[in-house]
Amino acid sequence: DIARLRQAGPYEWTLPPSAGEGGGEVRLFADAELLRGMDDKVLEQIRNVARLPGLVGAAMTMPDAHWGYGFPIGGVAAFDADAGGVVSAGGVGFDISCGIRCLRTDLSWEQLAPQRHHLADSLFREIPAGVGEEGRLRLSVRELEQVMRQGAHWAVAQGFGPADDLPYIEERGCVGGAEPDWVSDLAKKRQLGEMGTLGSGNHYLEVQVVDRIHDEAAAAAFGLRVGQVLVSIHCGSRGLGHQIGTDYLLLLAKSAASLGLTLPDRELACAPIRSDVGQHYLGAMNSAINCALANRQILAALTRGVLARYWPSARLDTLFDVSHNTCKVERHRVEGRERTLYVHRKGATRAFGPGHAGLPDAYQAVGQPVIIGGSMGTGSYILAGNPPEQNRAFASASHGAGRAMSRHQALKFWHGRQLVDELAARGILIRSGSLRGVAEEAPGAYKDVDRVAEVTEAAGLARRVAFLRPKICIKG
Ligand code: 5GP
Ligand code: MN
Ligand code: MN
Repeated sequence: DIARLRQAGPYEWTLPPSAGEGGGEVRLFADAELLRGMDDKVLEQIRNVARLPGLVGAAMTMPDAHWGYGFPIGGVAAFDADAGGVVSAGGVGFDISCGIRCLRTDLSWEQLAPQRHHLADSLFREIPAGVGEEGRLRLSVRELEQVMRQGAHWAVAQGFGPADDLPYIEERGCVGGAEPDWVSDLAKKRQLGEMGTLGSGNHYLEVQVVDRIHDEAAAAAFGLRVGQVLVSIHCGSRGLGHQIGTDYLLLLAKSAASLGLTLPDRELACAPIRSDVGQHYLGAMNSAINCALANRQILAALTRGVLARYWPSARLDTLFDVSHNTCKVERHRVEGRERTLYVHRKGATRAFGPGHAGLPDAYQAVGQPVIIGGSMGTGSYILAGNPPEQNRAFASASHGAGRAMSRHQALKFWHGRQLVDELAARGILIRSGSLRGVAEEAPGAYKDVDRVAEVTEAAGLARRVAFLRPKICIKG
């Protein structure tokens, strides 16, 4: 398959459908080296995505793509309901609306550094993290249904952070179309004690320092300067999202045949957007998106509480909050015509360009902040969204460095304790309840984030604004 790829631009490869196979085009945004590093499974998976009904344009992968369940992680695919398009649970992923909230302080690393050990310990103590860890909130089912309808607005109404945060959250903190009635009782039950928790594994709360500015104008609009401390919170919709994903994968797989769908891969379970089960999934998925937005709002408030103990007058404003596991209803111009599309982004970040109506005033001129995690040992990036003439991926960009190897493989190469010590020697404090989890997340298990960010920019997906170095990382 790799041999059949056609280079369509310096950072773009296409794979036209083979004769008799049907389906749409595949488009990969990468350079030769990132392509070589991608497992063959990515190409096979994205080819299968391109064969789903109602695909608009091409099924695409971002520079950080790697193998996932059904859809590759770093996969983007848009469908049109009018053309028989589908919605796919595998195209969203299990951790619905997993994403990153980035908070901007007015502290410099120099100011913070003397307290760094205390701060790391306090954050580790106060931010509930790890497998099965419950938060301090215990909701009733009725309250959880409000969370699912209101998103971050619910959290603000409960006193978790100011309303000033809301314009800086995608969808302004609440997505429409949530239907808690289509969420199973089990999914709700799993979430009652999990609001305000980080989760495990790849989820983190990281104190970072701005190391380098790439784009002065955008950095000024985002309020970023070298030496400034940021806090990034990476987590999702916890038990609720996972259970919704599990429930609907089964349901969609079971109903596919009766809805006239032949699936190229069982893991690509999907349903026509205009079917009952398709609508039910969308109602449940949007409920999980709101839950994730509320969750990150609560975690941001907990972080502020901890910081205020050490620096009572420090600011901690929301730079932005953006998800990377969603299906969103958006308007896009395709071959000169505005169309309503269901854009699946799985391990891909929405990246609206300058002037987009969904952005707050402060970012109108420069575009949306795009947040790319890298690893706890290397660094992360903030980028800015490009206009559609440059971004030809339905306003999508990379979401991370992307895994270079599986968790299982990583355990053969690294030991948690040793990693924590090595990182500490480099001035990076890790706090985690699971040393095994730390080993699975070893920086070396991820691709080169610098290259991913560079290629993301070169491919026109987004422009680099700032590079951040990790200083304290609370791992789930
Ligand atoms: P995912 O949502 O696909 O699980 O992870 C998103 C990205 O986060 C990964 O591709 C990886 O590059 C990045 N990442 C994982 N762990 C860490 C961490 O501890 N710190 C930072 N800054 N990034 C991480
Ligand atoms: Mn996640
Ligand atoms: Mn994630």
